[in-house]
Parts: sequence; structure tokens; C-alpha cells
Amino acid sequence: MVGNFGRKCISYPGRTFNTNPIDIMSISFKQAKFATSAFELSQLLPDEGAEVAFAGRSNSGKSSAINCLVRQKGLCKTSKTPGRTQLINFFELDQDRRLVDLPGYGFAKVSKQIRNHWDQVLTAFLLERQALKGLVIVVDIRRGIGDLDRGLISMIGDSLPLHILLTKADKLSRSATRKARLATEAQLSGPNQSVSTLSILSRQGLESLEQICGKWLTFD
Ligand code: GDP
Repeated sequence: MVGNFGRKCISYPGRTFNTNPIDIMSISFKQAKFATSAFELSQLLPDEGAEVAFAGRSNSGKSSAINCLVRQKGLCKTSKTPGRTQLINFFELDQDRRLVDLPGYGFAKVSKQIRNHWDQVLTAFLLERQALKGLVIVVDIRRGIGDLDRGLISMIGDSLPLHILLTKADKLSRSATRKARLATEAQLSGPNQSVSTLSILSRQGLESLEQICGKWLTFD
């Protein structure tokens, strides 16, 4: 147990963040297990503890990134066929910490009604949920930040720390990967916005992802 001496905290409306060095070993990503799914705000888990959410275009590699983080092949369903039922999925790491898989966006076939439903639910979730400490937006490194990602980033504004995870880094050369990361960084403006890359094949970048999620999930 570490004492509270000299602890630095940043305050966002309704949210407190620990900015001290984190012992990421204390976060048990491997222990992640499915907790529940939600279609409506009323079905969300109680708004307590700490959560990190993952958003991204369908096929960006979001499910693969979460599975890589928790070292489990099938925790989060990966699929090449978009259009399956969309839900907010909660994965418990321990009693106080959760990962949240948000519905992928950019499906051509989703009805306007469903699109409006998720616009409302996700806006409320992202802007009002106290337990939410950070958002990872998963982006295919070959596509870069697209219009839908940009819309989400501007909707979030300064209300929540944000991390852009550029996935499928093994599809590009080292120099192209670096270039893509720098180009993405240049598109961000907030003090609590960052970028890293990931390959689920080589696991390059996994440690950075663990660090950022670990930092957000460690709360007083
Ligand atoms: P989601 O729809 O955003 O959840 O995307 P998935 O996780 O289902 O991934 C979409 C496709 O990209 C799948 O075929 C994955 O195997 C592939 N993929 C995801 N991450 C990587 C990666 O780091 N490297 C490579 N080569 N393929 C990846």
C-alpha cells in the first residue's frame, strides 16, 4: 500500500485522476471477465470505480486490441463481418475497475433509428459518466483519423483524457509507422491527448497501451 504523500491529481468536472507513476502490475488485465452488456443507459453498471472505454470504426481492430491487452483470444468478439448486434460491453478487471467496449461506428447498413439511439446513449455515456477515466479511440494505422473519429474527438473536447491507438502497425514499415504516428499527433491539440501504435502480431506497443490504461484506472 502506497501512502498518499505528494500525490498529484488533475480534476475534470466530476472526475479525479491520479498522475503519479503507476505500478501497472497492480492492474490485473489478464483477469478480465465479461460482466454485462447494455443497450440502454438504464442497463449500465452502477457509475462507480474506474473505467476505460474503447471506441473505433468497425474493423479498426478494437476487439483485437482489447483481447491483446487482456491476453485472451476470445474475450471480445472479433469479426470481419460487421453488423452483429451492437452493445456496450463491460469487462471487469477487479471489483473497482472495468474496460468498456463501445459499439463500433461506421457501419453502412445501420438504420437511422439505431444510429440516433447510439448517438444519444454514447454522448451521455462519454460526457456524464463519473467512472469513465479515459477513452481509447482505435484507428487502423493505414486509414488514420477519419471524419467519424474526428467527430468523436471534438465531441469529447477537454472533458475526458483521450488516447489514439493506431492498430495493425505490422502492416506498415517502421518509417511509415513513425510517420503515421507523428501525423496523428499533429491532429491532436489537448494536453491529455496522446497517440501510440500497436501490432497484435508482434505485441509491439502493448506496454504503452497498458501504461495509459493503468494510469487511468488507478484512482484514489
Ligand atoms: P473491430 O471490428 O474493430 O473489433 O476489429 P477486429 O478486432 O475484429 O479486427 C478487424 C480485422 O483486423 C481482423 O481480421 C483482425 O485480425 C485484424 N487485425 C486487428 N489488429 C491487427 C493487427 O495488429 N495486425 C494485423 N495484421 N491485423 C490486425
